[in-house]
Amino acid sequence: MNNFFEMGPIRPPSEAQSLLIRVTRNCPWNKCEFCHTYKEEQFSFRSVEEIKKDIDQVKEISEEIRQLSWQMGYAGSVSQDILQALLSQPGGHNQSVQSVAAWLYFGGSQVFLQDANSLIAKTPELVEILKYLKENFPSIQRITSYARARTLAKKSVEELKELRQAGLSRIHVGMETGYDPLLQYMKKGVTAKEQIQGGKNVVESGISLSEYVMPGLGGNRWWREHAVESARVLNQIDPDFIRLRTLYVRKDMSLFSRVEKGEFIRPADDRIVSEIRLFISTLDGIRSTVVSDHILNLLEDVRGKLPDDKEKMIGVIDRYLTLPEEKRLQFRVGRRLGYYRNLADLQDPALLSRINQIIDKAGRADGQEEPKSPEEVERAIYGLMENYI
Ligand code: SF4
Repeated sequence: MNNFFEMGPIRPPSEAQSLLIRVTRNCPWNKCEFCHTYKEEQFSFRSVEEIKKDIDQVKEISEEIRQLSWQMGYAGSVSQDILQALLSQPGGHNQSVQSVAAWLYFGGSQVFLQDANSLIAKTPELVEILKYLKENFPSIQRITSYARARTLAKKSVEELKELRQAGLSRIHVGMETGYDPLLQYMKKGVTAKEQIQGGKNVVESGISLSEYVMPGLGGNRWWREHAVESARVLNQIDPDFIRLRTLYVRKDMSLFSRVEKGEFIRPADDRIVSEIRLFISTLDGIRSTVVSDHILNLLEDVRGKLPDDKEKMIGVIDRYLTLPEEKRLQFRVGRRLGYYRNLADLQDPALLSRINQIIDKAGRADGQEEPKSPEEVERAIYGLMENYI
């Protein structure tokens, strides 16, 4: 098999089992200070014909994989063995074939439309693509996409309803913050008012809405405003999901030069946790599910359905914040090294002893007896997050 269809670079963490169909290329805005994904890449639309050809390719690949499954005695289903067989075949490293095989393995029921803002495409064109996908793959149950809030604020509820009827089930929006001065500082190209309008349009259309908030984005300067105003925007939208994705400043982000100049100071982990506490406390009168499913988030257990789980989420935060400093350091290092997922993991003596050794080693300047400064230790822990980017 040497079939090929086009795929973009990213998808939300919750779309790991989805087939990726590229509707537009890159980001039509591409100016956010904290975003590196489409840097140096030009935005472009793809024609409906091109996208349909990709869907035809996916179908052809699927049929070939099913045939292989029959030949191997699996009656058309895609098992681990089929995946292995595809990887070991000549041409098996074709990314398109691998991704369709993985998609079928996970049930072939979810699709994610790429890239950063598929909703910028004309509604009739999107409807045609959605229908074509569903006609060709009756197994599809969920089709989702990223969209910019500004685009959603301009789409009418009627248009969004048409998209829902054609099969669009969920929209992911990178809201990041609801605080206007911070939106401007980060060049997000949207106002809190537009975010509210865009979000409300989606909710009213019946499409499921996932809003991403970026803890840490307010820096040391605006962490309170960022927390409170983001919660206020969400209180007006009442999205189905609120997802946390903590800021990490990479060298290839525009924001990095502001960090270098000392203009932007990323808050330390404990402050970000306090920021999330203020954020959750300010969420009010909504029924959203809070999700902490990004590897960069320190506390994965800050999750639950509002309003019932609000106190439970605050409880997780308070348990962390009231730990002695030494324990908080152990947890942060354990989490950033991928040893820990939640606070209960601190009880594991074998892991704790490994983490203490690492902390001890990291706390000494190379080959020196002198301990490193708290800033150097902080930088070292922050550097561990790079492994996940
Ligand atoms: S709109 Fe989204 S994809 Fe585009 S630059 Fe901003 S964060 Fe990146």
